[in-house]
Amino acid sequence: MVKQTILIFGRIKPTKKTVAVYSVDNEEQTGASLEFVVPRDSADGFVNNRRECYKFRFQKVFDLAVKQEEIFENIAKPVADSVLAGYNGTIFAYGQTGSGKTFTITGGAERYSDRGIIPRTLSYLYERVSQDSSMVYTTHISYLEIYNDMGYDLLDSRHEASRLEDLPKVMIMEDTEQNIHLRNLSLQQSANEEEALNLLFLGDTNRMIAETPMNRASTRSHCIFTVHLCRREPGSATLQRSKLHLVDLAGSDRVSKTGLNGQLLTEAKYINRSLHFLEQVIIALSEKTRSHIPYRNSMLTSVLRDSLGGNCMTTMIATMAIDKRNLDESISTCRFAQRVALIKNEPILNEELDPALLIARLKREVLSLKEELAMVTGEQKEDRLTVEEIQTLEELVQTFLDDTDPDVTLSLGPDMRKIQHCFSLLKIMILDKHGRRNGHRNGQESPDATVSDEGIQKSQHNAAEVARLKEMLTQRDNEISILVKMLKKEKERTQDAAAQLANITTGQSLSSQRASKVSTMPQLREGSMDIISADLGGRTIQHMKRGPPLSMGKQEAFETFIRDHEDQQTIEDNKNLFKQRSAEARKLREELVEAKDTITELKKQLEMRRRQRAAHGVIGNVEEEYDQVEENLCKHIEQEKTTYKSTVGRLKGLRTEIEHLQLLLERAKVKLQRDFHKWWSQEASCVQESESASAPRCHTGSPHGTLLPFSPDTPGFRSVRDSPAGRDPNPDRSLSSVQDLRSIPPSPAVLAGHDKSGDGKVADFTPSSEWRALASTTLASSSIPLTGDQQADADILAFVRARQNLLSKTGLRQ
Ligand code: ADP
Ligand code: MG
Repeated sequence: MVKQTILIFGRIKPTKKTVAVYSVDNEEQTGASLEFVVPRDSADGFVNNRRECYKFRFQKVFDLAVKQEEIFENIAKPVADSVLAGYNGTIFAYGQTGSGKTFTITGGAERYSDRGIIPRTLSYLYERVSQDSSMVYTTHISYLEIYNDMGYDLLDSRHEASRLEDLPKVMIMEDTEQNIHLRNLSLQQSANEEEALNLLFLGDTNRMIAETPMNRASTRSHCIFTVHLCRREPGSATLQRSKLHLVDLAGSDRVSKTGLNGQLLTEAKYINRSLHFLEQVIIALSEKTRSHIPYRNSMLTSVLRDSLGGNCMTTMIATMAIDKRNLDESISTCRFAQRVALIKNEPILNEELDPALLIARLKREVLSLKEELAMVTGEQKEDRLTVEEIQTLEELVQTFLDDTDPDVTLSLGPDMRKIQHCFSLLKIMILDKHGRRNGHRNGQESPDATVSDEGIQKSQHNAAEVARLKEMLTQRDNEISILVKMLKKEKERTQDAAAQLANITTGQSLSSQRASKVSTMPQLREGSMDIISADLGGRTIQHMKRGPPLSMGKQEAFETFIRDHEDQQTIEDNKNLFKQRSAEARKLREELVEAKDTITELKKQLEMRRRQRAAHGVIGNVEEEYDQVEENLCKHIEQEKTTYKSTVGRLKGLRTEIEHLQLLLERAKVKLQRDFHKWWSQEASCVQESESASAPRCHTGSPHGTLLPFSPDTPGFRSVRDSPAGRDPNPDRSLSSVQDLRSIPPSPAVLAGHDKSGDGKVADFTPSSEWRALASTTLASSSIPLTGDQQADADILAFVRARQNLLSKTGLRQ
């Protein structure tokens, strides 16, 4: 493939805020353009109404309303096609935080229709692979996160880390040909779309769990999801390997935002250092005269080396949030894109020879040549000479040497093995003769000693002995290699058997796991903490371990928390959709069974009709005798078959959607639990703080407040007061609807035993210490959360008083 520039696309995120003045023109012949109009600063003394325009060129610009499907069709599909053809491909999203990078690459975490480039590309790749029976394909997946210039394996199956730093670190290794290898990054084989999707969700969930409030890694880290595709023709020794990197970069946000006034659009500095290095590499690549490209400055640029100015078909998506506030960031993003567009890449077909396959092919060739030779010469030749043949040859050589006639020849026939053997016999004899002579010269005094008859005979004897021993040695060597081969085969067979056995048991455990999915939750309510087990080809990965049972209060708080969580509506929607789709799938399956029965019935009728006609003797001149009934039956069968096929297709589509929805729900569950723990920890530390400051800050008993200690600034959380669910007259409805989500796992912080608090100090957040913190708090009456309901408030105050009495008696209160 010839050199080609990196393609750049622009995507604008929908917004509810006032948008900046901009225009998109996709009709131009040379690509598309995006133009921003910036009101000129009037603060510099004289007022003018001139406006400044910034125009940028893109391959195509996708405006606010463009859907994920269109993004996939335009951007990802061509890259996926080239990956299938054996070239490397990369798609990376670049833009400020919140501009839609993750939405574009992975997709929205809530809705099926929002799935992004990764799941759609996986679906497309596996579909194409399954259609191509002329090639054998294998696919592997890896998922790397780079944070603070350190690589972490998001697919590590032993993953129980609560912090990113606890994941195994990935190292960069460079071989002598300067190829980059990543040590500790696992490559997981994934045979189908479902397995690949599971891996994607596993990685994303690991990432979410590892992220704590103190470590908001997701906006500052880069994620590289890679599909490693290998394909070959059956029997061929050449392999084509290609890689597809799907990259979600860290936010390209810059410091010293100057806003629309002042020195607008002077380039500010990146917050993220590795993006700075990425820009350095891109500047170097776009300058023709530069010979050194500083790839090694950061892990990101090392990993993406091939994708930038190397062997890759690369596409960039510049994501922009173009509300007025973000105009300068959007312009920075466009400027970066313009530089990227200057880079030329040279994709080459990644073909290589597989040594094992090559040896196998050569062996086959040797065998067929031998057969051919045997056919031509009329005799079967073994690799080696037999003992009898060797004996005959020795005799022949002896006679040849003994004959004094100078014209005597040694005729051996057209057999290289015999010719070579005679030569080696002669060589041994000569060497032996030399050796003896030298031996005489060195060790004895007779320099002119001649070779006696006896000597010749002895040397011939020796030569024969050496030849015999050599022969034996080769035979033993052969035996050994045959035995080793047998041993290997035996080992493979045992492994196969073990794998089959594992498959069988996995199949069983899979179905039993599916069945038990619903029933795991009640168990959890009782304090068992095994949550989300994503099954990956039989390996069950547990993200969290068992923890101590939770107090009733916390359980109750959790139930209310989820009822009012901002994701609740989406979860509800997804559940309904899930039910609906499952019902649809059930109906389709019934239809399939019906269609199948109808076809069988029709076939029977057809058969009967034919028999009847044969019995009536019409069959003899069937060509003239056109039978309407038979014709109709055939047509009917065809129709039913078409319906059957289309139903199968629809069912397949539904299955993918159902699986995806399941994963979405699973993830929502983890997110809820994480948010709850985050909030709970914050609340606990708030109580401590308010104690030390002896000024009630957290949830003062505001008369129109609520008993629930909700903090409005908790991420992903709606205040109960504004939430319609808060006033839900029938709380049972929403409670029962989230029955799956109601059990609380131990927080990652609890698992780790400690968590870093904002000031860097390590604060202990184990449940007992939280409780101690709450218990030891002096509750001034103003800091007691009250409901506004007289009866309830009186109960609360009575309880608090009783508790204080109890504590002072037991000496717990100091
Ligand atoms: P980034 O990864 O660039 O920081 P996100 O992809 O997380 O940004 O997007 C921020 C928010 O905006 C998310 O809630 C996401 O769902 C939403 N969003 C982004 N792009 C779109 C879009 N094209 N359509 C609808 N919602 C979007
Ligand atoms: Mg993101």
